[in-house]
Amino acid sequence: MKNELIDFHCHLDLYSDFPAITMECERAGVLTLAVTTTPRAWPRNRHVASTTRCVRAALGLHPQLVAKRPEEILLWEKYLPEARYVGEVGLDAGTRFIRSFDLQKQIFERVLQHCARAGGKILSVHSVRSAKVVLDMVEAHLPPPQGRVVMHWFTGSQADARRAVDLGCYFSVNAEMLAGDRHRATVVDLPLERLLTETDGPFTYRHGRPTQPADVTVVIEALAEARSAAPDDVAIAVRANLDRLEEQI
Ligand code: MN
Repeated sequence: MKNELIDFHCHLDLYSDFPAITMECERAGVLTLAVTTTPRAWPRNRHVASTTRCVRAALGLHPQLVAKRPEEILLWEKYLPEARYVGEVGLDAGTRFIRSFDLQKQIFERVLQHCARAGGKILSVHSVRSAKVVLDMVEAHLPPPQGRVVMHWFTGSQADARRAVDLGCYFSVNAEMLAGDRHRATVVDLPLERLLTETDGPFTYRHGRPTQPADVTVVIEALAEARSAAPDDVAIAVRANLDRLEEQI
């Protein structure tokens, strides 16, 4: 069995050459979730993904853009029936975005409520400095089995992590999360059966160039080392996790 790699959070449309990076996912056989930051990008992403075997598009409204374009929630709602995957959505309480936090919460609540009503959605969720609030909102508005949440680049506490596991969340893990000591221990403690891999390219770098989906091999190797497991076994487990996640919903 050929083991396919998974990049569950990548901004393919923000690379300098969207068609070329998409072809690269196909060539390398990396199952890639093409997240978007604005629903304006949905039609093109949906079209490009439809021409591929490996790429799936996600309908997003990034919390860092909410302050400047809250009205785009209407466009997001319009496209939701076309989307199985949703993201990038969530909250950002970092210093640059804290001023719009109340507005972000209003938008995210609408996102969760619409997903719950529609059913069958899988969400890639941003939670910078806001893991607890994100989990409060997921618990209130989108508990399983109404939807499935994948916490993208999770940097919450170990208590937040346990709560996310109890709420049925998955976690997409990238190389940066495993590079420093700060979040490494939390990641290592996450249950293997809830892990996916991601790059968050092109916002992360490797060898001085934007990370590419095929670079998730680095995440697999780092997870394997941290867990004293064989890389192939971790890759097989992650692939099985994606299948299970999709079957659960
Ligand atoms: Mn992202």
